[in-house]
Amino acid sequence: MGNPKAFLTIQRKEAGYRPINDRIHDFSEVEQTLNSNDRRLQASRCMDCGVPFCHWACPLGNKPPEWNDALYKGDWKLAYELLTSTNDFPEFTGRICPGLCEKACVLNLMEHEPTTNREDEAAIIEHAFQEDYVKPNIPMRNGKKVLVIGAGPAGLSAATQLNQMGYLVTVIDARENAGGLLRFGIPNFKLNKAVIDRRMAILREEGIEFKFGIRGVSKTEKEHQPIQNDPTLANDKIVVIEDMAKKYDAVVVSTGTPTARDLPIPGRDLKGVYFALEMLSQENRVLAGEDIKKEDLVNAKGKNVLVIGGGDTGSDCIGTAHRQGAKSVTQIEIMPKPPVGPEDPKNPWPNWPRTLKTTSSHEEGCVRRWNINSLEFLGKDGKLTGVKVQEITWVPNPDGGRPLMKPAKEPEIIKAEMVLLAMGFLRPQQPEFPENVFLAGDAASGASLVVRALASGRKVAKDIDTFLSK
Ligand SMILES: Cc1cc2nc3c(=O)[nH]c(=O)nc-3n(C[C@H](O)[C@H](O)[C@H](O)COP(=O)(O)OP(=O)(O)OC[C@H]3O[C@@H](n4cnc5c(N)ncnc54)[C@H](O)[C@@H]3O)c2cc1C
Ligand code: SF4
Repeated sequence: MGNPKAFLTIQRKEAGYRPINDRIHDFSEVEQTLNSNDRRLQASRCMDCGVPFCHWACPLGNKPPEWNDALYKGDWKLAYELLTSTNDFPEFTGRICPGLCEKACVLNLMEHEPTTNREDEAAIIEHAFQEDYVKPNIPMRNGKKVLVIGAGPAGLSAATQLNQMGYLVTVIDARENAGGLLRFGIPNFKLNKAVIDRRMAILREEGIEFKFGIRGVSKTEKEHQPIQNDPTLANDKIVVIEDMAKKYDAVVVSTGTPTARDLPIPGRDLKGVYFALEMLSQENRVLAGEDIKKEDLVNAKGKNVLVIGGGDTGSDCIGTAHRQGAKSVTQIEIMPKPPVGPEDPKNPWPNWPRTLKTTSSHEEGCVRRWNINSLEFLGKDGKLTGVKVQEITWVPNPDGGRPLMKPAKEPEIIKAEMVLLAMGFLRPQQPEFPENVFLAGDAASGASLVVRALASGRKVAKDIDTFLSK
């Protein structure tokens, strides 16, 4: 620890977002950066605690005290080496990780002014790219081959680790490009897609082979109609996972959670009701230069938009709707409003606080309501005009278990020409695969976070190495 008293004299300083009236007109990243002097001052606030809870809270086991110390001392190269010893892609987590480590920081316990680990992480990796420290490392081959199915963060981190161990790695994906939800879900204003392309160039140089437009399905999935509601996943070229397990020494299945949770209430088939990803992934494709037919466009321009679902996906819909020129944006959530404030008495430090989250997209303007149940989509001539909703209350269940929902007010109508369903994703039901098939990321855990997907990919790579070294 370079400066043992810095946390007493230097305040937490975040780089903050670009001003709303500037950022709302484009899809460029909203977050700004601190100058390198301020960044080093922020790093100096880390106390290198005897028991660093940040290590424990970060699913990757990242070591903020170590790299913050190097950063404070101006040794950016050492900071980069320490950071990448546990994290294959800090340029992703540095931008979009919720910073689980920061909530567990000891400085968050007292004054709610934790260290700025996530931003420090982004600064270290961007500096490393600028200074050309990030070089492809072409490993010696060990003669064994692994197939990774799904090129999202979990698959990419498993592929990176296995490749570096000497395995010949092929990655296939059902879409036309790599990144998974990083590319086809998370909006550009949170993560510029050039950041993924920059990493992909390195992975290719390191010898990983990528093939796109190929879908991996289980034997049972091939026999039955696959359950998924995403038409952008390839349907023409299919490989059977069990067959691949015979062809390759090991297979990683990191196919995420392709099925979004639906809302099957009357009027669901009206034009104007979409899954969140129909809009988000299409917008990312449009920004990448893809031509979409006018009649297929999912665009909020001039519309009253209702986002159903109060989580992060919903928040990304809000930011995207604003940038597309929505007339108004409302977000409703069936659950009660979470407690406001930095602390959640039911889930105390160092756990992640389940408190109200206000994102950059919320700041841009939106009506937010909780305890709202959706009853019916209303329309005229096949087109959505509004949604009948009802305020509810949750009462304890006399039989124990989940609380029960009770109407609290008369139904009302929210005017909307566009509804975005952002209610999460179904956990995939995986069959019993041969013993050399390993599940990683959301495909294993259900919908989660990028940092957890990366950690899962690294773990699976280790498990495969142990399995194949037997
Ligand atoms: C809108 C949105 C915003 C989010 N924002 C954040 C955020 O800010 N921070 C954060 O930490 N997390 C965020 N998440 C969650 C995060 O994106 C996921 O947890 C993470 O991407 C999971 O990684 P994965 O590799 O397991 O799966 P995915 O990223 O879903 O990747 C799976 C890959 O498998 C491919 N695939 C699917 N089926 C098949 C098949 N049968 N055969 C071949 N390939 C297939 C897909 O094309 C995809 O490339 C967000 C999620 C969404 C939906
Ligand atoms: S990946 Fe997330 S939790 Fe881990 S150190 Fe970085 S910001 Fe913290």
